[in-house]
Amino acid sequence: MTLTTSGLRKAFGGVVALDGADVEFVPGKVNALIGPNGSGKTTFFNCVTGMIKPDAGRITYGGKDLTGRAPHVVARAGVGRTFQLCRVFPRMTAVENVLAAVRPGGLVHGLRSAHRRAEIERAHGWLTRLGIEHLAGAEARNMSWGQQKLLELAGVLMAEPNTILLDEPAGGVNPALLDRIGTLVRDLNAEGRTFVIVEHNMDLVMSISDHIVVFDRGRPIAAGPPAEIRADERVLGAYLGV
Ligand code: ADP
Repeated sequence: MTLTTSGLRKAFGGVVALDGADVEFVPGKVNALIGPNGSGKTTFFNCVTGMIKPDAGRITYGGKDLTGRAPHVVARAGVGRTFQLCRVFPRMTAVENVLAAVRPGGLVHGLRSAHRRAEIERAHGWLTRLGIEHLAGAEARNMSWGQQKLLELAGVLMAEPNTILLDEPAGGVNPALLDRIGTLVRDLNAEGRTFVIVEHNMDLVMSISDHIVVFDRGRPIAAGPPAEIRADERVLGAYLGV
């Protein structure tokens, strides 16, 4: 399933955040979306996931038109996302959070009990996979920042997305967890999930990505494998402002 945009445009008042962005991510791979602050990366994620409507342009996933569709429609099409500022319910336990990610409010009470048990088991499975099962009964607000990010990812995985957008997965996490996040992304990718990652940590980007798209002023200026991007003068220019 290929995620593409064509001519994507979004302005906030006089500020043009996306300026006709034509992007194609490589399905089945770890894609990164990088670029200087203010180059439109978050706005791009918000448009693609239906949080905001673009002014113009098209978003397609596996050939299906997702332009301007609501977040739950995008999620149902198989595109999941995490947020830069990590969205979890602070007063719910970890396992409740994972369940809530697929059922708003975490209300599994309405489900037949066999199905409910299966869902709870699946939630524990993801917590185990992400190494936070020992915190299943802990309220999210008592977990560390990095653990909360893993919890948010567990919720995203619960919906079984084919494509996962990660907004700064390394932001604010300690080096040990950073390694774990890198390994997790590669492992989850090896199982067939496509990733698109917005990330400032260039070591992480260069080590886990297969394909990098570079944004500057609301549109891509370069795309290719890490070795090519690292050597691209336009990329250096965008970052250094020369
Ligand atoms: P990045 O994620 O690459 O840092 P953003 O998408 O956050 O870039 O921002 C792109 C541009 O759009 C910036 O100039 C930013 O100030 C502006 N912008 C983003 N969101 C809003 C908003 N809700 N209201 C006004 N301006 C915004």
